[in-house]
Amino acid sequence: MDAKTLAPGIRPGRLEAAQIEAGFTDLHPPLDGHEAQVAADRCYFCHDAPCMTACPTSIDIPLFIRQIATGTPEAAARTILSQNILGGMCARVCPTETLCEEVCVREVAEGKPVEIGRLQRFATDTVMSRNAHPFDRAAPTGKTVAVVGAGPAGLSCAHRLAMKGHDVVLFDARPKAGGLNEYGIAAYKSTDDFAAREAAWLMQIGGITLRTGHALGRDMTLEDLTASHDAVFLGVGLGAVNALGTEGEDRDGVLDAVDFISDLRQSTNLGTLPVGRDVVVIGGGMTAVDAAVQSRLLGAMNVTIVYRRSQARMAASVFEQELAAAKGVRIICNASPVAVHGNGAVREVEFAFTTDDLTPTGDTFRLPADQVFRAIGQTLVAEGLPDLAGRKIAVTGAGRTSVPGVWAGGDCASGGDDLTVTAVAEGRDAAEDIHASLMEQANG
Ligand SMILES: Cc1cc2nc3c(=O)[nH]c(=O)nc-3n(C[C@H](O)[C@H](O)[C@H](O)COP(=O)(O)OP(=O)(O)OC[C@H]3O[C@@H](n4cnc5c(N)ncnc54)[C@H](O)[C@@H]3O)c2cc1C
Ligand code: SF4
Repeated sequence: MDAKTLAPGIRPGRLEAAQIEAGFTDLHPPLDGHEAQVAADRCYFCHDAPCMTACPTSIDIPLFIRQIATGTPEAAARTILSQNILGGMCARVCPTETLCEEVCVREVAEGKPVEIGRLQRFATDTVMSRNAHPFDRAAPTGKTVAVVGAGPAGLSCAHRLAMKGHDVVLFDARPKAGGLNEYGIAAYKSTDDFAAREAAWLMQIGGITLRTGHALGRDMTLEDLTASHDAVFLGVGLGAVNALGTEGEDRDGVLDAVDFISDLRQSTNLGTLPVGRDVVVIGGGMTAVDAAVQSRLLGAMNVTIVYRRSQARMAASVFEQELAAAKGVRIICNASPVAVHGNGAVREVEFAFTTDDLTPTGDTFRLPADQVFRAIGQTLVAEGLPDLAGRKIAVTGAGRTSVPGVWAGGDCASGGDDLTVTAVAEGRDAAEDIHASLMEQANG
């Protein structure tokens, strides 16, 4: 270990450029043609395939794998994309180990599933590399729909509506489309600017006008949108971050994990991104793992995830936990933060051991830290939105909200896991319902 890695504080360039580049390469590298054939040949093409039932977008997995096996990856891509227009991103980021691959009969029998995610990537990459768009737009309907939020839910909804012939205005508060695909997903899952390339490819369908830098609540209200469009879809995600509620939380060096990750995703030179020597990440989900692993890959010497319940209850999957461990991240469970100590900047975080029902055991410990990431969940910015159910927008059926003509889906809406693939499914299903409703109005 050299002086740069050992130096205390939050500083850039802890590793050589080549080391950083090697760390941030594709987590699941693409299959070549021969590997894809071999992987596809392992599929039993099950009748009533459990993998298909486990997929939130209900992709016909045995069919697309058979299409790869028979040498027609373009047809396989069409099978995937007709259900999930962000099939390329989902192939990279889906926790397949807890979805399709977990229930694959090969996994159940042999402990080694068909590599559904990598096969999906093979098919979708084949089509995208030709820069061809596989779907045509229906004749214009003369209807306009406002879609707010250009994350997976909004992109999926906008694409399906445009395909049906509606004119879509896609608003997003941020400078780029993609939502957390662009600003959140770990860099080693979405390499080579894939999120931006996929969003641009998707919009080749036509009929979608993208307006970035337009925020609902700042530049327009829901009433403005319902007055000027035939329908509105809200896919605004979860824009705020939960606080720790701990003494000293405002000390320098205590940051939201999502902001760190967003900076990392937008950086064109990771060597210039500052990171601590001793990093403590508080939380137990994917965001915690991503912040911890990427801190290590930038050269942080000691990275510890601290989670308040037992390891079995972490929201991060076992695969993600093992990834963290493999990258040298330590995971401490059953401990909650009680104070952030330091003089101006953080120096130590004090934790209390807790039982699984969060009762303090009376034992405490301190971890040295020059950087602390809060990763204890995101929350909805709820002003000016339809009625809520708990902390999210209440929806019924295919995303209908309490306001007539307004639908919602993805992380901001009630029901469903906070996953890319679920957001895509909800955006698509809301678009189908909006289409049915607009056509009913037009014909009735
Ligand atoms: C760090 C991190 C890592 C993750 N990793 C994974 C993973 O590996 N696999 C996985 O399946 N899921 C992962 N997730 C979850 C996944 O990213 C989300 O479930 C998914 O992005 C939700 O899509 P969405 O479209 O609902 O919201 P978002 O992706 O959050 O998109 C919402 C969009 O709305 C815009 N917006 C917000 N407010 C306004 C407003 N007022 N006006 C206009 N626009 C607005 C935002 O700018 C954003 O572009 C991760 C999440 C995080 C935070
Ligand atoms: S469960 Fe596994 S073997 Fe069966 S169709 Fe799905 S991928 Fe193929």
